[in-house]
Amino acid sequence: DLKDAEIRRKKLHNTIEDLKGSIRVFCRVRPLSSKEKDQGDTKVTKAIDSMNLSVESDSGGSSKFSFDAVFTPGTQDDVFNDCRDLVQSAVDGYNVTLFAYGQTGAGKTFTMYGTKGQEGVAPRTIQELYRVMEEGKARFNYTVMSSMLELYRNDLVDLLSKGNPTATKGKLNLKVDKAGAVCVENLTEEACESADELSKLLERGNAQRTVAATAMNSESSRSHLVLIITVVSVNKETKERQRGKILLVDLAGSERLKKSSVEAEGQQEAIEINKSLTALGDVIEGITKSQKVIPYRNHKLTQLMQDSLGGSAKTLMFVNCSPASSNLDETTMSLKYATRAKNITNTSGAKASASKAAPDGKDRTGASGAGEGEGA
Ligand code: ADP
Ligand code: MG
Repeated sequence: DLKDAEIRRKKLHNTIEDLKGSIRVFCRVRPLSSKEKDQGDTKVTKAIDSMNLSVESDSGGSSKFSFDAVFTPGTQDDVFNDCRDLVQSAVDGYNVTLFAYGQTGAGKTFTMYGTKGQEGVAPRTIQELYRVMEEGKARFNYTVMSSMLELYRNDLVDLLSKGNPTATKGKLNLKVDKAGAVCVENLTEEACESADELSKLLERGNAQRTVAATAMNSESSRSHLVLIITVVSVNKETKERQRGKILLVDLAGSERLKKSSVEAEGQQEAIEINKSLTALGDVIEGITKSQKVIPYRNHKLTQLMQDSLGGSAKTLMFVNCSPASSNLDETTMSLKYATRAKNITNTSGAKASASKAAPDGKDRTGASGAGEGEGA
């Protein structure tokens, strides 16, 4: 309801400064699909208000889950309105991550990329980025660089390379320096002068993803897709240089392996996805609990995200869910996984007031020291 959504929006905007080093969690439940309707599925999820979701269990009881926002499913406009400020943060020199978690078919790609006429977070981020830069161009010179890659099993694949992307398998070296800054050696990085150029690049990467999936005899939902947009701004007067980064991640499906139906090849794939998502969950929990050592090193996925998760980085996690009774178990698992991240939001008040002591942007490198926990 409108008034309620208004309250939520106010709260989100008030907490934008507090977001440093913490994670905002948005839950999005897609509509029942016609297939689900046909097979007699009912809806087990229900929005209580714009921040709370209830899920009916088999036994007739229900559980309540709270997030920074709940969309059931909301429009692409609604969703992006609550993400928009992160783009400004990246231009201001922060590292920003938006990622989508959930089982295959839950709406991750719809949320992150969308369809023609219902564009998702990535294309909207691109438009917003160039809009923000247009506003600032009298005072700043901006450079935008972009890369696109996927992590399939334990291999990084360059989606902007010319030729078959799988040829880059084993050639991309993931390096994390002492300060925690992430670099992928040999990864194609292209300068983009306009929203149009960056959109074209994204289309090219997505097409290459299909090529890679065919070559690797897999589904694209079985790999993590990562779009990296780097923005460097130089103040024309002071020559001060800021570097921000936007990481957009469409994660591989989180569904559990069905023991009976998967052959050996698929099992290895599923095991690696499970490892990576567990590693991500552990990192998230580490940040939540302000652990001294955050276990970024446990997987390439978390290493890749190291300078954009925790520290002074700002993170938005989408947990995408199906509303269908047949997916109740997976939905519950996803919501529980996301709840591990949500605790961060609850404790961020104290952290944020501490970090407000240094609002001058000096700590905006985004890199949390390797295993050092809080960067601020
Ligand atoms: P995932 O990437 O998690 O596997 P998809 O984004 O491909 O899932 O979504 C599965 C299907 O559900 C697609 O046909 C998609 O268009 C549809 N869908 C997902 N989210 C929504 C939504 N919010 N509104 C309408 N349709 C949606
Ligand atoms: Mg998908």
